[in-house]
Amino acid sequence: MAPTLIYIFGGTGDLAHRKLIPALFNLYIDGYLPGPFTIVGVGRSKIEESTYRAQMRKSIKEFARRSELTTKYWSKFSKNITFQTHDLNSDKSYKEMAAGWKAFQEEHGKESQIIFYLSVAPQLAPVIAKRLHGHRLCHDPKRSRMVFEKPFGHDLASAQELNVMLGKLFREEQIYRIDHFLGKETVQNILALRFANALFEPIWNANYIDHVQITAAETVSIESRGSYYESSGALRDMVQNHVLQMLCMVAMEAPISFEADEIRNKKLDVLQALRHMRPEDVHRYAVRGQYGPGWSKGKKAAGYRQEKAVDPQSNVETFAAVKFYVDNWRWKDVPFYVRTGKTLAAKETLITVQFRPAPDYAFPDEAAHTWRPNRLVIGIAPKMDIRLRFQAKQPGPSMTLRPVDMVFSYASRDEEDCQPEAYETLLQDVIEGNPTLFMRADQVEAAWKAIQPIMEVWGHKPPVDFPNYTPGSWGPEDAEALIARDGFNWATLPEV
Ligand code: NAD
Repeated sequence: MAPTLIYIFGGTGDLAHRKLIPALFNLYIDGYLPGPFTIVGVGRSKIEESTYRAQMRKSIKEFARRSELTTKYWSKFSKNITFQTHDLNSDKSYKEMAAGWKAFQEEHGKESQIIFYLSVAPQLAPVIAKRLHGHRLCHDPKRSRMVFEKPFGHDLASAQELNVMLGKLFREEQIYRIDHFLGKETVQNILALRFANALFEPIWNANYIDHVQITAAETVSIESRGSYYESSGALRDMVQNHVLQMLCMVAMEAPISFEADEIRNKKLDVLQALRHMRPEDVHRYAVRGQYGPGWSKGKKAAGYRQEKAVDPQSNVETFAAVKFYVDNWRWKDVPFYVRTGKTLAAKETLITVQFRPAPDYAFPDEAAHTWRPNRLVIGIAPKMDIRLRFQAKQPGPSMTLRPVDMVFSYASRDEEDCQPEAYETLLQDVIEGNPTLFMRADQVEAAWKAIQPIMEVWGHKPPVDFPNYTPGSWGPEDAEALIARDGFNWATLPEV
């Protein structure tokens, strides 16, 4: 790996503290960082290098996967961390960066590379990008990259505008649009499960699959992120990116190679095949919800409208459920139900693939009581497992059946420790210049396009029933109706 200089804009922010620096620390322990590397935290505050290092040490102690190794590795790791006080709008700051980059190359050679991680509010990204371009900090496309955090745009038009602007300044291969779900081991494992096994792919289509469900449920409220959430909502915050990306992994065709663009082309095909919703149909395909006040873990919990920095009349949704169709041969008329929300009954992200029921003619009537279709459940987080449900005979004299689960789990403690966090995988890919797990411009736009009709209808038509669910529930009743109308119900993981 080439010597690497990493600038983290927003170096004093929450993401840098909780995820980025701890992830870089773990990469360092594993020997995945380049020989010479320097991490420069960039922020508005006037803080000394020693103070910044002390803050980062505290964050690693608190958040790193192997924080117990802090003492052993810290002194060497920390020598590579420094801080730059920076005013985004001042040329002086970028000149300082250009001088730092020049000195880094002089010391470590012309192979050196530079990475800018924009861990700042999205509205600051264009300012930074223009200045980086103006100061020729990213003029070599092979040796310079920029990472953009989500949200990438606010809707289709703003994402297109941002893509056009960036496209004028940089090459697409320099632009890394992050969706941290794609760095999760369990999400990447979907490709292994589907394409490295002969068992599933032959039946992975409308002939055998009844429907697919994706749940990304959180028990937490919006916490202190009121002002961000007021401009976002569940659809933009979760469905446009993480949920649709999981859907793509389930629905994509087999790639002919693991080349970045090949995988991304196959995912794009899925997004482009999503059935377009007419405005008048949105109410049949999408349900929104907002949590009201209630009780959570024995304590009084505020409703969304009572949260800090939230409009007391806010109509922003904290829950969304949508029924999608992928209009191609493989998925003809197979519904994909997705749901996501805050303050729900359990923290779980899972994908459920339900197969068509086997015919039960030959079995006695009583067997029909417990007859269940086969189901493959992929636990993404926090449970990381794959369970295949099938019918088995209950031991005893009669032909009584019961559904049983065959479980593959990553759960053993040792294995969990060995698993890189999503941000580790993704940062390593940025350093190595592998964009496979990052969103290309056309993918981001296709994802916005898929939810644009829902956003427009919801934007024009205020909800009449908000708040419509209580903390600790599974969301509004309409979400149950969305799936029950088709004869199904939402799957959750069994309590173990
Ligand atoms: P944050 O508010 O904690 O940090 C933002 C950083 O930007 C701070 O260091 C702040 O000093 C800096 N900043 C703000 N205005 C500035 C200005 N005018 N000039 C210079 N610096 C300025 O935010 P965060 O939670 O760290 O999130 C950063 C980005 O990552 C956002 O785009 C967010 O949507 C995204 N993100 C965060 C998380 C998370 O878990 N925190 C998860 C996913 C995506």
